[in-house]
Amino acid sequence: MKYLFQRANVLTMKTDEILYLTDVLVEKGIIVNIGKNIPAENAITIDCTGKYLIPGLFDAHAHLNTSEMGELFIANGITGVRNLCGTAEHNVLDSEIRDGTKIGPYIYSSGPIIDGVKAIDKVDNRVYISSLQEAEEAVYNTINDGFRWVKTYPSIEPDHLQRLMETARDCGIKVCGHMSYPVDAKTLCDWGYHCCEHSSSLPRHDADIEYLAKGGMWFCPTQVVCETLPDYVWNGKQLNDLAYYEYVPGPLREFWEDRNKKIIAGYKKRDLRPDINVVINRGKTFMTYSDQYLAGSDTMYPGIICGFSLHEELYKLVTLYGRTPYEALKSATVNPAKYIGLEEEKGMLRKGFDADLVILDENPLANIRNTNKIQAVMQGTRYYDRKQLDAILNHVRNLKDEEFHFIAPIF
Ligand SMILES: [Zn+2]
Repeated sequence: MKYLFQRANVLTMKTDEILYLTDVLVEKGIIVNIGKNIPAENAITIDCTGKYLIPGLFDAHAHLNTSEMGELFIANGITGVRNLCGTAEHNVLDSEIRDGTKIGPYIYSSGPIIDGVKAIDKVDNRVYISSLQEAEEAVYNTINDGFRWVKTYPSIEPDHLQRLMETARDCGIKVCGHMSYPVDAKTLCDWGYHCCEHSSSLPRHDADIEYLAKGGMWFCPTQVVCETLPDYVWNGKQLNDLAYYEYVPGPLREFWEDRNKKIIAGYKKRDLRPDINVVINRGKTFMTYSDQYLAGSDTMYPGIICGFSLHEELYKLVTLYGRTPYEALKSATVNPAKYIGLEEEKGMLRKGFDADLVILDENPLANIRNTNKIQAVMQGTRYYDRKQLDAILNHVRNLKDEEFHFIAPIF
């Protein structure tokens, strides 16, 4: 099947230049031509006059753990996700999405979360290591189970973490996560720690942040989830008040309410009162020294609504972190593609690249909020026009409890 998108304003993301009145020809899921007046031949033509074409978006920090999330990602123009706590079920779902039996983004997944036995909150599906041998095995298992990255939490003992990092380096797999409590950030960077998840995980001092940024570390701010701590714990925000709450199925609302109560109680007990501006400033410091940052939402953390929350994150990258709309868009297209190692296939609209694209009604460079104004989504060979996207959203809004299920154990 061939598709010809005609007379579009194309934002290739190679630069911030917009190619006006330009055609994009897609064949078998690949962009085969971009130019003026491309002959239609046997292609399905789609008039894009006045519309803007951008690459499909990535949510670079997500937990695709419930049955409706795949649809919500697609309805929000998100054609790929970096999944940060992988299970066997994620690999199955990714195959089903790729063979067309399920709707959802391509899933690029880390292994399960690896932590030390000193961790305060123990959760079922995490791996807790207490020896050098277990540190090595955790890396081997991550690789053997088909995951792309090792993910760590911060309570691993220094010698175990060092062994884990060495093993990962020797095996050629990168490590990402929440940094470390006992090991300082510079040492972690020297050991090759590859990506810091959440602005709140960055070190306190600017010089240390500069060191990480210049040392080649990646960074995923997830501002939307960093804000949940002050908002729900101290500012009285309620889950019910959320925009788009109608897209959270009943059983998930119940889970969130219950979970949020525990989270709030835990933070109150510790009297944890982070200053969100301090957290934002750490992120901004990183961004002054490096453009290796990623837009991620941390959906399905309570209050982070799948799909919609990535657009909120993009807005916050512009308004709170001082990025230009183009830079914010890069962090959801070019940068995640590069991070994953797909920079020759995804993240830009170029000849030979995968046909993952979003048609917007208005220019996202003029106002980052325009990433919400989605007219159509293409993911490889699959094209969803506005009518189909509305049908998907309707389906999620009216989801029966028995249609809902958890895909994988949570967090
Ligand atoms: Zn997460």
